[in-house]
Amino acid sequence: MKPLDIESIRSDFPILQQRVGDRPLIYFDNAASTQKPEPVIASIDHYYRAQHANIHRGVHHLSQVATEAYEAARTTVAGFINAASTHEVVVTKGATESINLVAASWGDAHLGPGDEVLISTLEHHANIVPWQMICERKGARLRVIPIDDAGEILLDEYTKLLSEKTKIVAIAYVSNSLGTVNPVETMIEQAHARGVPVLLDAAQAAPHLPIDVQALDCDFLVFSGHKVFGPTGIGILYGKESLLNAMQPYQGGGDMIEKVTFANTTFRRAPERFEAGTPPIAEAIGLAEAIKYMQRVGHTALQAWEADILHYATERIQEISGIQIYGQAQRKVGVLSFTLENVHPQDIGTALDLDGIAIRTGHHCTMPLWQRFGLDGSNRASFAFYNTRAEVDVFIESLARIQKMFA
Ligand code: PMP
Repeated sequence: MKPLDIESIRSDFPILQQRVGDRPLIYFDNAASTQKPEPVIASIDHYYRAQHANIHRGVHHLSQVATEAYEAARTTVAGFINAASTHEVVVTKGATESINLVAASWGDAHLGPGDEVLISTLEHHANIVPWQMICERKGARLRVIPIDDAGEILLDEYTKLLSEKTKIVAIAYVSNSLGTVNPVETMIEQAHARGVPVLLDAAQAAPHLPIDVQALDCDFLVFSGHKVFGPTGIGILYGKESLLNAMQPYQGGGDMIEKVTFANTTFRRAPERFEAGTPPIAEAIGLAEAIKYMQRVGHTALQAWEADILHYATERIQEISGIQIYGQAQRKVGVLSFTLENVHPQDIGTALDLDGIAIRTGHHCTMPLWQRFGLDGSNRASFAFYNTRAEVDVFIESLARIQKMFA
């Protein structure tokens, strides 16, 4: 295995060289958003300096250059998730928009009174609210797979909930609040045995795990550019080609049409069918660079490094009295969620910030999950492959001081 050259990696991320006050920045808020390496920043800079024009339909030089760069980015994304065809890769503005697209378009056509949409307790609001909205509109019902205290989906309960009423299963591949890697392979198999399609919310899987939509055989998969070291304002919807082409457009406008008259309009096939208007061109180019960067680091090295950081942080945090860890799944990545007895998460976040340490506090857009644990939220340190054990040490020292201060 190629070892990870941490010094060289860290020097690729300009923002990590920053100080917060007089302290070096320690960035442990990667589940909320990741930082950008130099090649991503450079690609966007280059695009606006040398390549920008609107894409598709342009006969002039720059339009062709921009179109080629945009479509090459789609090919890179297809490779990243092992999609069978670029026709299955739709560019959106984020994981949230991707889920809304499927809920609104697929849901409108397939859900009716008495039908059920199956999600789990640990979903991000982005994979709850769009389904709630379409269920309300169509008279369908949202059913929720329970989890155990470790933060693992109860597979037996899932099996029981799957019924002839179930029309779609929508689940997180990885939980943003607990780090749990859900048993999506088994869940997809069981759903498919009943002819039920599955949407995977891979927003937190894409930064940590290799993704293979063909091996998973998922029907839809979504993720966001900004969580995989790419730009904000771009996300991906993967969908099986036959499903996408059978769906009605989510938005109307330029680029998604075949022919428009005042009487009616015919639509293009996927992916253009779902890309109305000028897409995020610079962002697509930046996302492709981010993916290439991750591919150069290599998933094996990246996963081994992150597993070590998570394991080390999990061990060390238990030196502090009054710590309770949330999310103790057998398979977890990226996230250490915890509470400290008698100290409000907000106070911890603020005190850590004084030491230059960025973590997230609160509900992390998973309010129902915290209701399951009888809490309002947690403190969440979340890691990427550019984090180090030395940073964890500073974090633990700071946390120990905070604990003493509030004791
Ligand atoms: N799903 C999960 C599991 C997430 O963690 C997030 C972002 N926190 C989202 C969906 C939504 O992503 P975005 O805000 O980039 O659309």
